[in-house]
Amino acid sequence: GPKKVKKLYNELKIKDIDDLKKALKKEKIREIEGFGKKTEKSIIQSIKQYEKSQDRMLINRAMETAEDIIKIIKDKAKVKKIDYAGSLRRWKETIGDIDILAVAKDSKKIMEAFTKMKDVDNVMLKGDTKSTVMLKGGIHVDLRVLPESSYGAAMQYFTGSKDHNIALRKIAIKKGYKLSEYGIYSKKSGRKLGGKTESEIYKKVGLKLVPPELRENRGEIEAAKKKKLPSLVELDDIRGDLQMHTSYSDGDNTVKEMADAAAEKGYDYIAITDHSKSERIANGMSERQIKKQWKEIEKAEKKTDIRILRGAEVDILKDGSLDYPDKILKELDIVLGAVHSGFKSSEKETTDRIKKAFENKHLTILAHPTGRMIGKRVGYKVNLDKMYEAAEDNGIILEINADPARLDLNDSHIINAKEYKVKFSLGTDAHSTSGLDNMRYGVGQARRGWLEKKDVINTKTWKQLQKLL
Ligand SMILES: [Zn+2]
Repeated sequence: GPKKVKKLYNELKIKDIDDLKKALKKEKIREIEGFGKKTEKSIIQSIKQYEKSQDRMLINRAMETAEDIIKIIKDKAKVKKIDYAGSLRRWKETIGDIDILAVAKDSKKIMEAFTKMKDVDNVMLKGDTKSTVMLKGGIHVDLRVLPESSYGAAMQYFTGSKDHNIALRKIAIKKGYKLSEYGIYSKKSGRKLGGKTESEIYKKVGLKLVPPELRENRGEIEAAKKKKLPSLVELDDIRGDLQMHTSYSDGDNTVKEMADAAAEKGYDYIAITDHSKSERIANGMSERQIKKQWKEIEKAEKKTDIRILRGAEVDILKDGSLDYPDKILKELDIVLGAVHSGFKSSEKETTDRIKKAFENKHLTILAHPTGRMIGKRVGYKVNLDKMYEAAEDNGIILEINADPARLDLNDSHIINAKEYKVKFSLGTDAHSTSGLDNMRYGVGQARRGWLEKKDVINTKTWKQLQKLL
């Protein structure tokens, strides 16, 4: 309560959580009159919970969890509709809580199925229309059951983002409507005018339906008003995967195994892009090894339905040169350049290094262009505008790395890079056959970056791609 907060400030000059943690460590809190060991313990508990709630998880963890939960509920109870909403539906790279919405005749049964899942650690709230659980891994999940007539309005409301919804509500008010999670209403008569579908809501306020990935108040409302929303790239548009590793460097599977798994996805082609020789920790390939791999690619291609491109993820060395001589590079169908070292170099050094590499006529794609790992490292310092400009000048394609721990370029980078005449490629950077499944996260990021099919080179047919390379 506020009285206790004031006392903490007066007695120990505690202004924030860090001060509080220090005082707790020194066992200072228990000495204050009216606090004691019990209060100290409960404060520690609250801090732990607070910090846990601040944690955001990578999108793949949230997505897989949400999909599992929806499957369990569908198996155990009769549901008419069930979907995840929130930032997950917007394919944000990190997710806080998971929100699930459903329509069901018997809401008790679905709440039973939800709260009794074996992964539930703690049922925090259980009601007929809303329940909240904490899973064993510390993930919060909300489930709401709604009448069908409000489902669209609720999906709209709980998908967010907050900024998008505020902007939308303003337009609704201007037009004499009231917008809520239950529906859209006439302000004058109070009569409900829609809410069963999201399209109804957007249509009523004079907008085209905005795809969830764009709902960040970054110009999508104006675009929807002018009927100028992009027609976003879709997972089904993707005809091949342009970055993956095999047992030739640090991957788990053979060329043939990767090709078969990709063929099963319905792809027309893949690029095998193992590490170059300087990547010793990733078991980079010597020139002899890569030549051996070409033979294996040739053999594998005869036994599978898809085209296998000879590629490599070649280190961009400190001086901007590439890690294989031209005589090797010119034999490759596709050359990914990557910065894997020197993360402490200055912005100018790294920018010059990348620009120098772009001048090599064999280079096709810049892999994971900023080098960041989400929540782990920020990446190298580089002048992005200069990098995009040099990519435009040299016809270098920018990768959107679909590994959920990378997602590099990120959404706002893509939006900025699109201002230049550059194309993008999607690669999973898979190190095993299951890694190929990550393509959807790359597509999600591309959609958040407003990309259309024509912006992404691996939506092209094999023939079209050959011409481009
Ligand atoms: Zn790499």
